[in-house]
Amino acid sequence: MASLDYSEWLTRQRWYAGRGRVLTGVHTTLSVPLTGDVDLVLLDANYADATTDRYQVLIGWASTGTDAHVIGVDGAHVAHDALFDPTATQHLLALVDRSAVVDQLRFEREPGASLPVTAAPRVIGAEQSNTSVVFDDRAIFKVFRRATPGINPDIELNRELARANNPHVAKLLGSYGTEIDGEPYALGMVTEFAGGSTEGWEMATTDAGTDFAAEARALGEAVASVHATLAEALGQAPEPFPADVLTARLRSVAAAVPALEPYAAPIEERYRKLAEDRVVVQRVHGDLHLGQVLRTPETWLVIDFEGEPGQPLSERRAPDSPLRDVAGMLRSFDYAAHQRQLSGGGGGREWVEANTSAFCAGYAAVAGADPRDEADVLAAYELDKAVYEAGYEARYRPSWLPIPLASIERLVR
Ligand code: ATP
Ligand code: MG
Repeated sequence: MASLDYSEWLTRQRWYAGRGRVLTGVHTTLSVPLTGDVDLVLLDANYADATTDRYQVLIGWASTGTDAHVIGVDGAHVAHDALFDPTATQHLLALVDRSAVVDQLRFEREPGASLPVTAAPRVIGAEQSNTSVVFDDRAIFKVFRRATPGINPDIELNRELARANNPHVAKLLGSYGTEIDGEPYALGMVTEFAGGSTEGWEMATTDAGTDFAAEARALGEAVASVHATLAEALGQAPEPFPADVLTARLRSVAAAVPALEPYAAPIEERYRKLAEDRVVVQRVHGDLHLGQVLRTPETWLVIDFEGEPGQPLSERRAPDSPLRDVAGMLRSFDYAAHQRQLSGGGGGREWVEANTSAFCAGYAAVAGADPRDEADVLAAYELDKAVYEAGYEARYRPSWLPIPLASIERLVR
């Protein structure tokens, strides 16, 4: 099998993270046979700038094949992406169900969970950063494409929330991973599938989002409930407000975005005023926005607890103020209002303010404290997020740069 060349296939995948770098080679770090013709493989992609990314691929071997999921040919054998092979993914789910140990791989079913092992699988989200397989609308199996060392916060926090029976998450049913050089690597997780659900972003930006306030309130209640469970399960403590961290981010973005320059001093001033304050920190979502919540026919669910993309795992797992998540959601209301205006649905400040109020009131009803009671700290987290957005927009979507800038202008006034 040594002659199979993965590079061409790898660089065509949506989840390939090496665009903009020069790929110099791909080699196999781990290969575990799951069945006679399916291997679970970890590939190291090496780049000219000395960086490496590790990817997970399930390889199905066959004697022929010309379909869209062919990876390459090795002598008489054709390698396929086996996540598109129902027999292979059913086998993967069965391994979780049995809490199997296969060589260095450990599969784990959550206590009391029942897995739909005979259900028909279909791949969704091939266009995302991971590949997810849905089993009969009962379970969704997210296979991580990038393998990174350390505890995976999505599994970690979903496990706590499921064990506490929090009703606002997709219940964790199982997971699997391995260990390399003493470091854990999470490779996939199975959660309950939320049938008939709509993504928050879609709800907020389409016609149905015109009277979004009742939804925003329920969303505030759900987020507060998730925060309360995480605090209870994993603790909370007062810490100095991280003025230095926010200031460092501000300075680095301002150096690259001239339009932000005039706001740099007043924003820094806002952070400095909070430097003596204490904030209560705990484990949080870390990257909360309308794209990370699902409205089921019954309730709101919070998904994807992976934290801020692009940050190292240690930082993504660091305790933070729950107001960080609140600010993320409020910034996303601002973007949704903009999107609504683009599509003629009506938005603007009024829409944002009505939903901000409703969200905070819902949050307060569950948390016992209104996020707006700490207006200066909340504004600082909103500024931090808007600064990050300004950096992102300036680089990738300059026509959207006015959105965060307008909010910054309003927040520092
Ligand atoms: P992205 O790269 O977009 O962040 P991801 O690979 O991290 O994607 P998720 O964000 O967890 O994957 O999920 C992607 C999409 O799959 C969600 O937006 C949602 O539409 C759907 N989805 C995820 N979990 C569930 C679930 N439990 N029930 C129903 N649909 C779900
Ligand atoms: Mg996501």
